[in-house]
Amino acid sequence: MRKKNYSIILSLLLLTVLIISGCGTINQVSNKNVSSNNKLQIVTTFYPMYEFTKNIVKDKANVKLLIPSNVEPHDWEPTPKDVGKIQKADIFVFNSKYFETWVPSIKNSVSNENLSFVEASSDIHLMNGDGHHQFDPHVWLNPVLAQQEVKTITKALIKADPENKEFYQKNSDAYVAKLAKLDHQYRETLKDAKKKEIITQHTAFGYLAKEYGMKQIPIAGLSPSQEPSPARLGELKEFAVKHHVKVIYFEELASPKVAETLAKEIGAKTEVLHTLEGLSKEEQDKGMNYISVMQKNLDAIKKSLFD
Ligand SMILES: [Zn+2]
Repeated sequence: MRKKNYSIILSLLLLTVLIISGCGTINQVSNKNVSSNNKLQIVTTFYPMYEFTKNIVKDKANVKLLIPSNVEPHDWEPTPKDVGKIQKADIFVFNSKYFETWVPSIKNSVSNENLSFVEASSDIHLMNGDGHHQFDPHVWLNPVLAQQEVKTITKALIKADPENKEFYQKNSDAYVAKLAKLDHQYRETLKDAKKKEIITQHTAFGYLAKEYGMKQIPIAGLSPSQEPSPARLGELKEFAVKHHVKVIYFEELASPKVAETLAKEIGAKTEVLHTLEGLSKEEQDKGMNYISVMQKNLDAIKKSLFD
């Protein structure tokens, strides 16, 4: 049903774009750096893309977050208004066409030639996905790959705005250094882990698990909205008992119901493992950010690997 609606919206959009490009001059004039102070206008999709970009440009550009932070981005699709926001930007930063799967069709339909699409994961070799996703897009949850995403975004920003090259590069290096420190923390903490297995709500932590020698056992697949079958739950229960699993993880934007049921049945605790697929205004106001959330995740992971 959603898919069907989406194709109607897309066709309407395409029509709008065709009509607008018919009156070419108006469109051309209004494109580049329309709003305030000739600052670069950047639209980013979900929270980590926003934070990575913001740390590079600081106040030299206007950075907007497109997907509301209380919405699970796996299920999100742009409205015509959202597409309008992208169309007016100079730079659009997204994680992966295997995550923001609607990006390729938008790319085909926008008429702003000055707009550059930056796919932050484009320099990363993606792991195979499950039946629902061709490739696993959750690279931002690995502090090593997050550094690569920051570097890829930096390269694109410098290309779009070479005048501020040194400023962007300096900020980028400083932020990458923080991510490298985070990686070091993970490596040092997890190298002596007694166990390997973490049971997570969906397959968001594959790259993290691979980097630090853990084994992720997901309740659902690559998308948190997938419901596990009774058979899958049975398997998980058996696995958890066999491996003395003490903690079942759930995440911030999806319902914890299944994780709670499973935990109760095997007498385990539940803990939050934050996927950073959104960071609410309240969380941001509390000073939480990518690095602090990843540190909290590490504390949560310790509870199942060292007990
Ligand atoms: Zn996910």
